[in-house]
Amino acid sequence: MVITRFPPSPTGYLHLGGARTALFNWLFARKEKGKFILRFEDTDLERSKKEYVDAIIEALKWLGLNWDEGPYFQTQRLERYLEVAERLVEEGKAYYCACPKELLDQKREERLKRGLKPRYDGTCRNLNLNKGKGRVVRIKVPEDLLEISFEDLLRGRITFTPDEVDDFIILRADGIPTYNFAVVIDDLDMKITHIIRGDDHISNTPKQLIIYQLLGVKPPQFAHIPMVLSPDGSRLSKRHGARSILEYREEGYLPQAVINYLARLGWGYGDQEFFTVEELIEKFDLRRINLAPACFDPNKFLALNAQWIRFLPEEEIFKHLWPFIEPLGARNHSEDYLLGVIKSLKPRVKTLKEMAENMTYFLTEDYEIYQEALVKHLTAELRPHLEELTKLLDNFPLEDEKEMETKIRAFAEERGVRLKDLAQALRVALTGKTVSPPLFEVMRLLGKDRVKARLNRVLKY
Ligand code: GLU
Repeated sequence: MVITRFPPSPTGYLHLGGARTALFNWLFARKEKGKFILRFEDTDLERSKKEYVDAIIEALKWLGLNWDEGPYFQTQRLERYLEVAERLVEEGKAYYCACPKELLDQKREERLKRGLKPRYDGTCRNLNLNKGKGRVVRIKVPEDLLEISFEDLLRGRITFTPDEVDDFIILRADGIPTYNFAVVIDDLDMKITHIIRGDDHISNTPKQLIIYQLLGVKPPQFAHIPMVLSPDGSRLSKRHGARSILEYREEGYLPQAVINYLARLGWGYGDQEFFTVEELIEKFDLRRINLAPACFDPNKFLALNAQWIRFLPEEEIFKHLWPFIEPLGARNHSEDYLLGVIKSLKPRVKTLKEMAENMTYFLTEDYEIYQEALVKHLTAELRPHLEELTKLLDNFPLEDEKEMETKIRAFAEERGVRLKDLAQALRVALTGKTVSPPLFEVMRLLGKDRVKARLNRVLKY
């Protein structure tokens, strides 16, 4: 059975790159009817925060990336790492090292000065030191190691020479494991079959492979996926996607659009752009991941969100829109009324936030009427006609947009006013703005009582 994992370090929020890694692992597990495990690599005690754990969980839940096991926390498994490290020492595959940090730093500096790559010189390698205060555990990299290599599912065989790896630390003096050690023990204990992660981890892989080898077990399969870059090819900046996924929620993105966009970032299926999650599960294929770095394109992302807003049924939009419209007075309205308004606005906005902003006059009688629009369109000449029309409304079929248009057109002709002017005056009175969905649609949605009350109020004003 396929088992994948997402192991974020809770030292920051979940951003686009991390979410895409999670998505690919999730999609692969779902496609193969396997398992997806969530694990927090929280061994950096200073930088790991509960706040980030909570935010990452919230973001994954919002995206719908559900996990079958976990969340596990590495800090709850310290004894396990200790046990394996001690076993490796007993078996002569690792050793205690007592070199003081200052000395190591000094040696490191010297090597760097001589233009050499820093590496541990092996001072303690054959001293057979015992466990003791201030001592770390290092891996004894086998001397007969010729090369280290693995078959990357995306990139084919990747080979490292032994001089790329020195006797690296697996357990720090305080008993906390290093990333390379904990990740291997976890992946083994959790029976991970496929590791799909960013290609910034390729350089860690030889160390991990040596640990697998010393433990005498077969490593999982690896797929190193390219990074997500800014539109100009530089590292993702705050402006371009290096934000928390939850910030996109606040900006009015739909989780479906985020999933769709992330999946398409560097992965393709012909020239299809629009995918439901079910379709992604069906069509996802690791081997179709593009090896070139993926460039984040905020405009494409926004356009896709707009497409999703148009595509989803009103009821689904309503669910996601609620936090935006609740503070604007949505509770005072029936669900039917709100669904009607959503239907009308759906094709006209790119985000839910924009939808909510465009909805204010549907939600409250206290909507703002732009002064400029008022002065320009609600003219003294139109006043008697608007008064007359307001009275006539009782006999007008507001629920029938076509008929309303006919009636108001006839009314305008009779009074010798231009329909365009009359319609714009009505629009400003009813919405406060000069731009809105079609006037007769707005009137139908608002209903007779609200329309009359609004016109009367504006006329008084
Ligand atoms: N905690 C590591 C990270 O967040 C996980 C790397 C891995 O997948 O092995 O980058």
